[in-house]
Amino acid sequence: MRRKIVAGNWKMNNTLEEGIELAGQINDLVENTEINDVDVVIGTPFIHLTEVNKVVGEKIGVAAQNCADEKSGAYTGEISASMIKSTGSKYVILGHSERRTYYGETNEILVKKVNLTLENGLAPIFCIGEVLEEREAEKHFEVVKSQIAEGLFHLSAEEFGKVVLAYEPVWAIGTGVTASSDQAQEMHAFIRKTLVEQYGEEVANNTSILYGGSCKPSNAKELFENADVDGGLIGGASLKAEDFMGIITAF
Ligand code: PEP
Repeated sequence: MRRKIVAGNWKMNNTLEEGIELAGQINDLVENTEINDVDVVIGTPFIHLTEVNKVVGEKIGVAAQNCADEKSGAYTGEISASMIKSTGSKYVILGHSERRTYYGETNEILVKKVNLTLENGLAPIFCIGEVLEEREAEKHFEVVKSQIAEGLFHLSAEEFGKVVLAYEPVWAIGTGVTASSDQAQEMHAFIRKTLVEQYGEEVANNTSILYGGSCKPSNAKELFENADVDGGLIGGASLKAEDFMGIITAF
């Protein structure tokens, strides 16, 4: 059956020292709390990956927030999937709306990143979600379906089985506005139906679909109670160990 996952996305926050301290705090809480069968992931800036992997125990997986769309070579400033793998990390967050919007990441670029991530034995946490204008124009289902199809449907069923999806309505990211529990469930059920059509019931039922967008301890329980919401991708609230833990224990 699919895994429950709570993944933090630190974005461009924390010096190396601050990141090590936060990872240590999260690790202590995770080690000393009874957690209901939830995979915990911390998505850090690249420079933290090696050290954070040393700080956390087996109950926490570490994620990069991006990777290069080429294997290696003359790409100044880029970090490859194989480099990420060599830090001991297990996941790569791909297609976050901030990367799609500010860094021009297209579905074509994401296909290359998804392939390199999988080739290096890392699991993509693949983000999808509509902007406010698209929701208001009732195009949100169409937009999300095309992001999934164009970014991922070239994968075989076996390859797709390693992907985690994160539905993040862009209007809810960092805004304090959360999708209602019904809105989240409606979209997650639609995403699962889309996966059934492409890969069949078994793959669809085994795929973890996370919700992201102003998720916090006070609303996590209501969101996670939905049948098709398998956890969360957490931005702001992952920067404080207690808040992040409050979301992990919301299951
Ligand atoms: C995110 O950036 O993935 C996110 C969900 O951010 P926040 O929780 O701050 O809305």
